[in-house]
Amino acid sequence: MVMMVAVPDVEAARRRIAPYVLRTPLRLSQALSQRLNVPVHLKLENHQQTGSFKLRGATNALLGLTEEARARGLVTASTGNHGRAVAHAAKSMGARATVCLSALVPANKVEAIRSLGADVRIVGYSQDDAMQEVERLNREEGMCFVPPFDDAAVIAGQGTVGLEVADDLPETRLVLIPLSGGGLASGVAAAIKGRLASAKVVGVSMEQGAAMAASLAAGRPIDVQEVETLADSLGGGIGLDNRLTFPMCRSLLDDVILLSEEEIAAGIRHAALIEGLTVEGAGAVGMAALLAGKIKPDGPTVVIVSGGNIDPATHRAIVSGGDRGVAP
Ligand SMILES: *Cc1c(COP(=O)(O)O)cnc(C)c1O
Repeated sequence: MVMMVAVPDVEAARRRIAPYVLRTPLRLSQALSQRLNVPVHLKLENHQQTGSFKLRGATNALLGLTEEARARGLVTASTGNHGRAVAHAAKSMGARATVCLSALVPANKVEAIRSLGADVRIVGYSQDDAMQEVERLNREEGMCFVPPFDDAAVIAGQGTVGLEVADDLPETRLVLIPLSGGGLASGVAAAIKGRLASAKVVGVSMEQGAAMAASLAAGRPIDVQEVETLADSLGGGIGLDNRLTFPMCRSLLDDVILLSEEEIAAGIRHAALIEGLTVEGAGAVGMAALLAGKIKPDGPTVVIVSGGNIDPATHRAIVSGGDRGVAP
């Protein structure tokens, strides 16, 4: 039996982080409900402080550290949103944070992290490159590493999204979860399956460079090449030495859906033009999967809208019709 995060861990996380995070709204989408013939609700983590659910896991992880560990300074690598969450949580607890980012991280996310007072280091062209610098700072300067997903405290924190869904809509039959390293999917699936026995939980990723999807298909953690995608927050590997999120996703997810860049762009456009929401690519994949007809829900459905931190120029270009936005 794999060591897994379960409902009591997620409930403990919810109590612990409550003073630091927002309880986000669950909003009915008239348009998607009409189109799919079932009630479709949007869980609006784009309205979370820092613009994504990542604040939940980062806050829970930091609160679990000793004063002494926090005082040594925190370090992490990120596709952007986890770094911003760690920087925000560190600031609210009076700790120092260093965030290592690859050159693929969009400028708006880099700026947001800097403006929270974190020390930002741009290293190489992939999450793996950024992680090397994290390991060095951990080894040589004694900074405390805050993992982006493969960590029990982080998973339990992300799972609080699922507890809120289970409380707000106990008749939920299907939850669509953006999937990258699998911290969000593991935590939400644990909470949903623990509380709503008959609900299905499905991960959604992009077609190119989806490490968890490829690893689940291979039956073990594997590396995939990181490529540019509109769902930039879904890039990066799951770690060949993955301990928690791979086994949890393998045992808890009912399915994984993969989307093209055009389909993700359509999700971003729908969010903006129909729902009135500014959503980044990763946050739009659940809506995109429904719009693309890649899943047919048979009852009340919840889409986790995981984040809203999209570069404004890219957003304008996509909403006005292009699917790629500005040239890379
Ligand atoms: C990090 C992130 C995800 C994926 O979360 P994992 O725990 O890595 O699977 C999805 N959406 C957004 C907006 C994110 O920042």
